[in-house]
Amino acid sequence: MNTSPKDQYSTWIEVDLSAIENNVQLMKQRTGVQVMAVVKANAYGHGAVPVAQAAIRAGAAWCGVARLEEGLELRRAGLDCPILLLGYTPFGRMDEAIAERLSMTIWDGTQLQAISSAAQRVGKPAQVHLKVDSGMSRIGVQPQDAVEMARQIVKTSGVAFEGLFTHFARADEADQQPTDEQEKTFQQVVQALQAIGLRPPWVHAANTAAALTRPSAAFDLVRTGIALYGINPSSECLLPAGFRQALTWKTVLTHVKVLPAGRGISYGHQYVTSQAERIGTLAIGYADGFRRMRRNEVLVGGKRAPVVGRVCMDQAMVRLDDLSEAKIGDEVVLIGSQ
Ligand SMILES: *Cc1c(COP(=O)(O)O)cnc(C)c1O
Repeated sequence: MNTSPKDQYSTWIEVDLSAIENNVQLMKQRTGVQVMAVVKANAYGHGAVPVAQAAIRAGAAWCGVARLEEGLELRRAGLDCPILLLGYTPFGRMDEAIAERLSMTIWDGTQLQAISSAAQRVGKPAQVHLKVDSGMSRIGVQPQDAVEMARQIVKTSGVAFEGLFTHFARADEADQQPTDEQEKTFQQVVQALQAIGLRPPWVHAANTAAALTRPSAAFDLVRTGIALYGINPSSECLLPAGFRQALTWKTVLTHVKVLPAGRGISYGHQYVTSQAERIGTLAIGYADGFRRMRRNEVLVGGKRAPVVGRVCMDQAMVRLDDLSEAKIGDEVVLIGSQ
């Protein structure tokens, strides 16, 4: 039996877990605080369980996920670390979150009451993080109501006030003024809670971009998503040297041929050969998430090959200009290096 992925699959990804470990260590060193590995959405497509395991091995203190199901998946795989549900937890499933020691994000009094009842049913305390809306306008208590909400949390039986956090809307932009405003708003809430002895043990605000650019927003923990995978937050906010991309996306050549001038390629014949051209077919299409955008390129034999004609549902064509040796079965890289 052949065990090479190219003889097993039409398309697949390879994830370099040593890059994940490297990136966690770098983030920890740079910020000097604890790291939450954000592994929501199946670890940005990289595989939640192996990525979370690698991140914890490398020294991440927390894992962050969007939803209950994602937290349960990590627990089922044996991950024992603190896990924060960053989004909404349905009222009918708070018991499960508490039973599995998943910390919940809250921003509303009705959530607090439901969590308290759930904690009593389960017979274990619930850990909650209060989300403050400092300007993202997504979820979170309004800043002027945060102190009162914190008072409610500490008065509520069965509920432990574990954390306080906010999220930046524009930390990956060159213009830092909107993020300055958000940070100032959040700092005021933190100070007000500190003044009355209600600052919880885990205060956090920074996503990757803020963790890289504003030490003042590191607090106790940075929530690292995109840097974990070695991808730049934006064209205006680049990762420093040392971070490594973890993912490579591959497919194979399924057909190579030389076509004469004037031949239309793929649906609609939107590309027509202008001379004799070597054309390759790939076992990848838009059903696999391969984008139908113009001017896409892939790597074949270490060289860039342009996609020509429309991407089909599970196949696509490329021009193999200087690749006379390319042949059926050759590996092709869609994302990554070769
Ligand atoms: C997704 C997410 C993050 C991670 O953001 P990156 O920019 O990928 O580092 C952090 N915090 C919250 C609340 C998120 O939803």
